[in-house]
Amino acid sequence: MTNTEKTPGIKNENLHKVIQIRNLTESTYVLKFTRNNMQFRAGEHIIAGLKGEMDQREYSIYSGEDDDYLEILIKEVKDGNISSKLKQCKEGDLLDVNGPFGSFGIEKFDMRSKKHIFISTGTGISPFHSMVRSYPDLNYTLIHGVRFSKEAYENEEYDQNRYILCTSKEKVRGRSGRVTGFLTKFRVTGDMLFYLCGNGNMIYEVFHILNEKGIMADKIITEVYF
Ligand SMILES: Cc1cc2nc3c(=O)[nH]c(=O)nc-3n(C[C@H](O)[C@H](O)[C@H](O)COP(=O)(O)OP(=O)(O)OC[C@H]3O[C@@H](n4cnc5c(N)ncnc54)[C@H](O)[C@@H]3O)c2cc1C
Repeated sequence: MTNTEKTPGIKNENLHKVIQIRNLTESTYVLKFTRNNMQFRAGEHIIAGLKGEMDQREYSIYSGEDDDYLEILIKEVKDGNISSKLKQCKEGDLLDVNGPFGSFGIEKFDMRSKKHIFISTGTGISPFHSMVRSYPDLNYTLIHGVRFSKEAYENEEYDQNRYILCTSKEKVRGRSGRVTGFLTKFRVTGDMLFYLCGNGNMIYEVFHILNEKGIMADKIITEVYF
């Protein structure tokens, strides 16, 4: 069957063709595929899997709102089903992609008036990559927690004065530690909004630290991956 013929049970516009896989570490990769005119707001996610398979997972969109392709940043989870299968994709393979979904993102009226503090662990940096790429004038600080510096995925794409890497298992320029350690010393101001993305434990801990600093829930926006 050619790609233009109809696939039973799947809308044809949901079939996206793989363009490239970009390996960033042994386990983490960027999957790039056709956009098929999907409109989305930076921060939203899709639900994706291989064509013809029922099992699918959520992935934040990594590419920018104006890119003519879609990208997602995926970490292959040990014994994970979909993250391993997607890593084996080849150029031309078809993905079944649904979405976009979610409400994680920057409200238009906050765009210029607020300082946006992005706090992420691992691939939780993905929606922030999309936001930074989509809104070049954004006033942001991006705090990224990883174990080793090699997991600072494509960090050259961020303004280095706005990017803070926290490595928990390696010293970088004499410093190491988790995002939570960094945040306990971070000076907060009333014009800041906090966006948290990554694993649930980090989000729970950071929420607590921010509360202790007087930041209430209405200034904290979260996206929990697992
Ligand atoms: C809104 C949303 C957005 C997401 N965006 C991304 C994204 O941009 N990139 C991304 O890599 N993942 C993202 N995830 C997680 C993703 O949906 C899958 O859970 C992940 O890829 C594992 O799927 P799997 O089928 O390989 O593993 P499964 O067979 O489903 O599960 C294996 C186990 O791995 C755990 N797990 C899931 N993710 C991780 C992880 N990163 N590290 C360690 N353990 C994990 C699960 O809790 C589960 O216990 C997102 C999840 C949500 C809810």
